[in-house]
Amino acid sequence: MANDPIDVLVIGAGVAGAVVAKRCVEAGLSVLCLEQGDWPDRARYPGSTPEWELVAARQWSPAAVLRNAPGDYPIDLAESDFGVLNFNGVGGGTILYNAQWPRMLPDDFRVRSGDGVAEDWPIGYADLQPYYEQTDRDFGVSGLGGNPKYPAGAEPPLPPLPIGSMGLRLARAQASLGRHWWPGTNAILSAPRDGRHPCVQRGACGSGCNEAAKASTDVTHWPGIVRRGGRLVTGARVRRIVVDGQGLACGVEWIDREGSEHYQPADVVVCAANGVGTPRLLLASDGLANSSGLVGRNLMLHPLSAVVGLFDAPPDGWRAHAGALIHSLEYADSDASRGFVRGATWSVASAGGPLGAAFGSDGQGVWGEGHHAHFRERFGRSASWILITEDLPDPDNRVELSPTLFDSDGLPAPRIAYRLSENSRRLMAWHEARAKESLEAGGAFKTEIIHYGANGHLMGTARMGLDPARSVVGPDCRAHDVPNLLIPDGSVFVTAGSANPTTTIAAVALRAADRLVAERAKLPRPAHATRVAFSAGAPGPGGAAGAARAGSVDGATAATAATSLLASSTASYVGPAPAIVPLAEAARARLRALADDWIPAGDGMPAASSVGVADRELDRVLRARPDLAEPVRTALGSDGAPSEETRILLRYVVAAAYYLAPAVRTALAYDPERVSPVRPEAYPDWAAEGLLDFMLEETS
Ligand SMILES: Cc1cc2nc3c(=O)[nH]c(=O)nc-3n(C[C@H](O)[C@H](O)[C@H](O)COP(=O)(O)OP(=O)(O)OC[C@H]3O[C@@H](n4cnc5c(N)ncnc54)[C@H](O)[C@@H]3O)c2cc1C
Ligand code: SF4
Repeated sequence: MANDPIDVLVIGAGVAGAVVAKRCVEAGLSVLCLEQGDWPDRARYPGSTPEWELVAARQWSPAAVLRNAPGDYPIDLAESDFGVLNFNGVGGGTILYNAQWPRMLPDDFRVRSGDGVAEDWPIGYADLQPYYEQTDRDFGVSGLGGNPKYPAGAEPPLPPLPIGSMGLRLARAQASLGRHWWPGTNAILSAPRDGRHPCVQRGACGSGCNEAAKASTDVTHWPGIVRRGGRLVTGARVRRIVVDGQGLACGVEWIDREGSEHYQPADVVVCAANGVGTPRLLLASDGLANSSGLVGRNLMLHPLSAVVGLFDAPPDGWRAHAGALIHSLEYADSDASRGFVRGATWSVASAGGPLGAAFGSDGQGVWGEGHHAHFRERFGRSASWILITEDLPDPDNRVELSPTLFDSDGLPAPRIAYRLSENSRRLMAWHEARAKESLEAGGAFKTEIIHYGANGHLMGTARMGLDPARSVVGPDCRAHDVPNLLIPDGSVFVTAGSANPTTTIAAVALRAADRLVAERAKLPRPAHATRVAFSAGAPGPGGAAGAARAGSVDGATAATAATSLLASSTASYVGPAPAIVPLAEAARARLRALADDWIPAGDGMPAASSVGVADRELDRVLRARPDLAEPVRTALGSDGAPSEETRILLRYVVAAAYYLAPAVRTALAYDPERVSPVRPEAYPDWAAEGLLDFMLEETS
């Protein structure tokens, strides 16, 4: 079989890649997607198991450095105030995201005109509206139409999810303050659709959705693309986009799982590797599409904080989805009299699981006598306003290539340079104070603030514009310098708005794909070489090996590799749990004594040692988290007083074991494994109370 050029080569099987690939195969184009990660295995998502909080903190962490899966790449954060979260595999970030699905507001596209800073987008809300509506249908979005903050348009395809007891409490608070609120818009099913189940309200969305109720493109897009003849190769890391003598993209060099190099020619290359992966790849491709010097610049990350309220309420706040229960756009607008420009979108997050409650907002927890009171205060009884704040584009906030850190194939890691601006600091403080007012109006007896250190909203690093000197792509996402290179992901955002970005990424990508399909005949075609000399490879360790392997590949090699990789593509990187060497009785005895100091009997709860935290439950913890086994063994290996570091580790293990114990879970009435599918008759609790009326009256 010849390694013929294909019509469209897509790099990255996340959101943007899936949306473009779907539109292109539907138009009859030949499509090949290369994805460095694997197909996630839904059966292995931890959400339906008691151990989910433990496993979500490691094997399914959104921080690649903790997950450390074969498809991941390291991120150099030495120069950054803020970290970057992602998931590398089929579905991209949607595997772990919370599926909040709000759109940007019309004014978000006109920041220069409105505030005299940043730039306006060359397209606006009206250009995207039909694409927002189509992608709502493609992903299966639940929500309520008629939100007065948006222009009129189609209803979301499914009714809103329940807002839960905590959502209702804060909806009442917002109504009492005369502030906007609206049931959350989420890419989570509230009713069966396309063979997928509705949400069962376990609240474990952040480690993958076992039910496929949450829209992730491994479920919503890729199976259909493959059925229509699109090809998806996993374990395929693109190293470089190759250009022909005219400067047109003509294909890519990629590396398979075994380290073998391949070349795939294509008429159009779509770089959909996300707001960090895309500039990384363009910079690694000799600074492709970078005549403006803006590739990698203007990185925006949506600094994130939460204001947590504790309520004297029934402890059922954990039973929910993890997206937005309700949201508020009261202060999403810009008002310079507040002391800063731009705004924030607020959304109410559910209370979370017991391990999170044990450690509390500061991650420290209370141990000893006060533990049970501290736990009871927050487990199932907290609600948080999550504040997504708009950061402005700043060319100094950027993605570069790390000179010191490399991935397993020797490609330089992205190095992030990002500093929180004074505008962002003021904006966050102002919004946190207003969110506290709202929680107090809802009856919170205590509020706490969390400043998150990382986010997965990656935007701005190949921005869109009309002027090639001030932007990287045009309004249709085609690179000014390379007209057959499409960049349809969050990189092209000109400003970030304060809405979670994925619905806008999907709409921008679908619009770009539509334009590509319509105008493809007019696009210049690259010249394809039959044999291609590989680049020398990156300077890293794997790069040196790559250079030694450098040569040329023919079509047969690439096609065979693609077929075998496709056949193995359902493998998950989370393999069977390794056997754990049992702990000695002396070590268990030591842990029992410490455990009862930290979690004694009291407040109707058993002592830690009596529920097996040094025995059966400890073994469950170590089976779920094999990475803890050796440190625990070492920590318990000597008689001396444990160091502070050792105590932190052992306390985590003890708490994890305690809240896994059946007796403890029964005492807490915590049973997320019991599924409770969303029921349509549960929706109108807020409607019956007329909690939306004051906003609808204002706009009628
Ligand atoms: C924990 C978390 C929570 C989030 N919650 C929300 C939310 O509630 N709402 C919301 O709107 N957004 C949320 N997001 C953000 C959302 O996940 C992203 O906006 C979205 O996934 C971006 O889509 P994308 O296609 O641009 O990139 P991605 O989804 O990141 O996909 C890019 C893909 O490209 C692949 N790739 C990269 N480089 C290469 C290469 N060289 N070769 C081959 N493949 C490559 C990657 O492996 C990846 O699979 C969240 C993200 C995280 C991490
Ligand atoms: S709460 Fe709903 S969307 Fe979240 S993981 Fe469970 S079923 Fe999926």
